[in-house]
Amino acid sequence: MSEEYRCPDPECNSTNVKIEKETFRCLECGIIGSKTHHCPRCKRKYLMDFDTIVECPICRLEFEKADFEIFSDDDDILSLQKKQEINKVLREP
Ligand SMILES: [Zn+2]
Ligand SMILES: [Zn+2]
Repeated sequence: MSEEYRCPDPECNSTNVKIEKETFRCLECGIIGSKTHHCPRCKRKYLMDFDTIVECPICRLEFEKADFEIFSDDDDILSLQKKQEINKVLREP
């Protein structure tokens, strides 16, 4: 069973990708996608891979890869944007 990967960018959406160990690279636009992560919000499978962070091109939210290992429930995985929001609230007097 071989899985087909697609460019994370919906406007590119190319299946012309080079599969690597944990990621794949779109040969059309060069975007790197994560093979194993999905968006906890919209459940999209092809996220952009930025080493320790993945970004959903639909929700425009970033998630820390480490959180996917800590939490098994998608609802517990917070986006970086949400974390910053929470930090801001906590810091306010
Ligand atoms: Zn592409
Ligand atoms: Zn999403």
